[in-house]
Amino acid sequence: MRIDKLLANEGFGSRKEVKQLLKQGGVLKNETVIKDAKTHIDPESDTITVFGEPVDYKPFVYFMLHKPGGVITATEDNREETVIDLLEPEDQLREPFPVGRLDKDTEGLLLITNDGKLAHQLLSPKKNVGKTYYAKINGKVSQTDVEVFQNGVRLDDGYITKPAELQVITSDTESEIYVTITEGKYHQIKRMFEAVDKSVLYLKRLAFGSWELDSTLDKGEYRELGDEEIDYLK
Ligand code: URA
Repeated sequence: MRIDKLLANEGFGSRKEVKQLLKQGGVLKNETVIKDAKTHIDPESDTITVFGEPVDYKPFVYFMLHKPGGVITATEDNREETVIDLLEPEDQLREPFPVGRLDKDTEGLLLITNDGKLAHQLLSPKKNVGKTYYAKINGKVSQTDVEVFQNGVRLDDGYITKPAELQVITSDTESEIYVTITEGKYHQIKRMFEAVDKSVLYLKRLAFGSWELDSTLDKGEYRELGDEEIDYLK
């Protein structure tokens, strides 16, 4: 990463202001003065000080967002509001992206980070990371559906899903359920219910891996994850 970007991210001013700061000779990389804004630094191994004060720079950021309905899971879009638009401008500067995708109308837990390696691991089918959802279903969800989900559902394109745990909360003409899947196929839960002749009326993700949606977060709110929370993700 370039030193000017790092210092701008850390609140030392705009790139132009940071350039001036560098010219003054107060910025040191491993005890050597650096004046060139293009100087490359490794935030993990280089020690940076500004007028003697160490810059404690975390290379990666991890946010938990309570995604509301009506926003799309993308980094940018010309017409629609994205989940990244919900972040504060200084957090957007870190160039985070959503891990996986929730549909526009789906609410709930969405991880947002700029740690590509972790995102890749979490989404890898080999890792079998569980995602738990609460849903309202149009139709009477039965014990047979629970078994079908457990054995694998044949989707409209012929794909057979991995075992999914379906738990019925209430079963009537409209039902409420929890479901846990370990994959992330396009519209997977909606298509699984279509395969058993039902439809999803409302969908909310409650958990991703060992992480649960923070109940103190209102829709549209997010918070940074603490170090311990990230450690157990790795
Ligand atoms: N399955 C869906 O159908 N939609 C989502 O947003 C997530 C899982």
